[in-house]
Amino acid sequence: MGAEAQFSPGDQHEADFMNVTLYQSEVEAAEAAAQAEQDALDQARAAPAPPHDGKDVCVICLSQPRKPVVVRCGHRYCGACIRQWCRRSLACPLCRGEIDRDALCEDHTSA
Ligand SMILES: [Zn+2]
Ligand SMILES: [Zn+2]
Repeated sequence: MGAEAQFSPGDQHEADFMNVTLYQSEVEAAEAAAQAEQDALDQARAAPAPPHDGKDVCVICLSQPRKPVVVRCGHRYCGACIRQWCRRSLACPLCRGEIDRDALCEDHTSA
């Protein structure tokens, strides 16, 4: 006896509820998988070039710019990276173009 004797109509209701949540998570997983497949397709179509072509990569941390800041010469860096860089040098790390220090302050107002 023991465990079986404790079964009650309330447990039946809970079992139904669990079936529903199981079903929902199954649907969600299927949707997520379909979405991931779609994302991969979109990426394959949109980005035939290698990711590190220097256009959308901050050369200071070598990853996608966070809170990107575009400096006067048109190069893009993370706000944090380029601000740190400017403590040492006001020349663009990519082209040595002059960096307008005022442009780096924009991030403060929006954050
Ligand atoms: Zn960076
Ligand atoms: Zn530059």
